[in-house]
Amino acid sequence: MVCSIKAILYPPLCLECSQLLPKQGTLFCTLCLEQLTLVETVERCRRCFGELHKGRCERCIHRPVVIARQIAACEATMGPPLTLLKAICRGRKECLSAAASLMAYQWLKEKMPLPDWLIPLPLSFWQKQQQGLDYNLHLASALGKIFSVPVAPLLTKKFDRERFFTQGEFGTLPMAHAKKSGIVCDRRIVLVAPQLEDLRLRAAASALQPFFPMQIDALCFAAAG
Ligand SMILES: [Zn+2]
Ligand SMILES: [Zn+2]
Repeated sequence: MVCSIKAILYPPLCLECSQLLPKQGTLFCTLCLEQLTLVETVERCRRCFGELHKGRCERCIHRPVVIARQIAACEATMGPPLTLLKAICRGRKECLSAAASLMAYQWLKEKMPLPDWLIPLPLSFWQKQQQGLDYNLHLASALGKIFSVPVAPLLTKKFDRERFFTQGEFGTLPMAHAKKSGIVCDRRIVLVAPQLEDLRLRAAASALQPFFPMQIDALCFAAAG
C-alpha cells in the first residue's frame, strides 16, 4: 500500500529522459540503460588509464610508479553515465549502488584481485558541507558491500601551507591519518573516487606510501573527460 501511494506521488521516472518507468527501484529506461556501458580498457595505459598513442603512454614513461593501476568503469562525458556521475556527487543512494556495481564489474572483468582495504579519496570540508555528506565515503562503502572488503577513510584534506606561502594560491593536500594508517602496511589498497583524476589520485597515494602498502591501485566510476 505504502509503495503504491509512493508510486502515485513520486512516479518512477528515467533519470536521463524522464520517461515513466515500469517499476520503482529502477533508474533508467531500457533505451538509456543501453548507453550505460563499460569503457574499453585495451587502448588505455595499464597505469594511468589514459589513452595510448602508438601503444605508449607519454605521461607514464618518464615518471615513477605511484599507483600500479587506475581503472574507471564508464566514460562519463555525456548521456546516462554523466547523469549517474552527477547523481553520485549528490549522494543519491540508489545511484551510488548502481555506480558501485559497474565499478565492481569492471574490476573483476580486468581480473584484478580483491584488495584488503578500500580507501575513499578525501573531500574538503567545503565539499562535504555543500552536499551534506561525504559521497566518496558512501561510494566506497557501496563498493565495500559488493566486494565484502572493509572501507578505511584514512585520508583528509589539509590546507596546503607551502603552496600558499610560495605561490600565494589556496589549495589542499591529502594527508593520511598518522595513527590509523598503519593498517595498510603490507596490504593491497584501492583508492576510490567518482572521477578518475590522475593528479589527485597520485597525491592521495603519495600520502599513504610512507605507511608501506604492498600495492596501491585506484578504481573510479568515470574516466577522465
Ligand atoms: Zn530514459
Ligand atoms: Zn599512463
